[in-house]
Amino acid sequence: MPGPLSVSRNVPADLLEKLVYDALVWCSLHGLVVGDKGVQRSGTDPGIGLVHAPFTLLPMPFPKGHWRQACELAPIFNELVDRVSLDGNFLQDSLSRTKEVDAFTSGLLDIHSKMLEINKREDIRLGLHRSDYMLDAEANLLFQIELNTISSSFPGLSCLVTELHRNLINHYGKDLELDSRRVPGNTAISRYAEALAKAWNEYNNSSAVVMVVVQTEEHNMYDQHWLCTLLREIHGVVSVRKTLAEIDAEGRVLPDGTLLVGGQTVAVVYFRAGYSPNDYPSESEWRARLLMEQSSAIKCPSISYHLVGTKKIQQELAKPNVLERFLENEDDIAKLRKCFAGLWSLENAEAVKSAIERPEFFVLKPQREGGGNNIYGDNIRETLIRLQQEGSEQAAAYILMQRIFPKASLAYLVRKGICHQDHAISELGIYGAYLRNKDKVIMNDQCGYLMRTKVSSSNEGGVASGFAVLDSIYLT
Ligand code: ADP
Ligand code: MG
Ligand code: MG
Repeated sequence: MPGPLSVSRNVPADLLEKLVYDALVWCSLHGLVVGDKGVQRSGTDPGIGLVHAPFTLLPMPFPKGHWRQACELAPIFNELVDRVSLDGNFLQDSLSRTKEVDAFTSGLLDIHSKMLEINKREDIRLGLHRSDYMLDAEANLLFQIELNTISSSFPGLSCLVTELHRNLINHYGKDLELDSRRVPGNTAISRYAEALAKAWNEYNNSSAVVMVVVQTEEHNMYDQHWLCTLLREIHGVVSVRKTLAEIDAEGRVLPDGTLLVGGQTVAVVYFRAGYSPNDYPSESEWRARLLMEQSSAIKCPSISYHLVGTKKIQQELAKPNVLERFLENEDDIAKLRKCFAGLWSLENAEAVKSAIERPEFFVLKPQREGGGNNIYGDNIRETLIRLQQEGSEQAAAYILMQRIFPKASLAYLVRKGICHQDHAISELGIYGAYLRNKDKVIMNDQCGYLMRTKVSSSNEGGVASGFAVLDSIYLT
């Protein structure tokens, strides 16, 4: 039997050259591509300036047991998000101190308060989440890094990387001593399209569209286009792409709650923007967000689902006896708790003291998404000391998290057509879809996976932010 070592061992130079060449051809022919930031218009116009997405040449070994565990957690997290989203006071109270110091969180909470005031009902609830994990080498435990409830990216490209790896192993498996059957199939794109189509169906208006909320420039547009293409070709559902500014200019809500944008009725609003303060450069974008929230269109995510995905809520949910407020099933609670790493607010003096003494064992996180925002190492110490000296309320903008250390192994990372070998660590994301209409749960499933791999010396992890490359898994 081929062992895990064969994936990460050295590949002979002549074979390596063939693999890289074939992989690059495969990416180009199969749409495993992103916009090339070096080319003008590549972030706005499809077909202009494409480059292969960064990827690993071979899948990363990953233990089958932990893989199953991560998959099993997805429907439980889906349900948790839904339950927590129903407790408006819990969200407002937990985020109240953060709100004072973080204008972005405050903007989201204002919309949420307005919805509480008008007692806004969301009968049809669609969540497309991705829970991310790292496998800690020393503890041999799977720990959740975060739960994304908005703009969970790469359902499209992650499936393509799985296909790429299987294809390479099918061709060169004998030489590599690998078996493509040990790379699990990835259904993320088809299940996400299915979830969106089912939500659209629940809205029950055959002339309505799915509206994808996009950034003005998006180099990861092909990942999004994969989803829209499947929606159209498999489910016959039309989608449109709009920026928040366009929605502000073209959108209105009819007295019965119908959301019209550019004259078209919107059944589902699918956010691939709106998760970062940069997405709201003016009041116009905030108006658009509020308009959509007030409408009867299905929001993926609603403002409350969005807030449940904040790092502050992650930290609050990890406190003793909090999960019990939202879930009844004790086994489910135990499974969730098992994957929670240490999480602390900066009100916890003991945790802050430890982090100042040994910052290498912590990550300091603001309420941000999209990669590149966290604080590591000596910068943690400096930031915490500064916050203490200023005695400021700013501390409420952050949470502290136990740092996870996955085992590093040798990997081949390919970027811009160049392959280099390095020690690398990985983060496994499991996609989940949840759809409920009133009391009827229509979908609550795990939907596939995203493996991201980065050189072990790098702190941060995002692919779009340039730290990691796309990967798949080789079950061991
Ligand atoms: P974002 O919402 O910006 O993606 P994350 O919490 O996922 O925020 O952090 C970004 C990256 O930082 C992760 O992809 C991971 O590589 C790294 N990271 C985050 N938390 C930890 C942790 N506790 N231990 C080790 N690395 C972490
Ligand atoms: Mg995130
Ligand atoms: Mg992340």
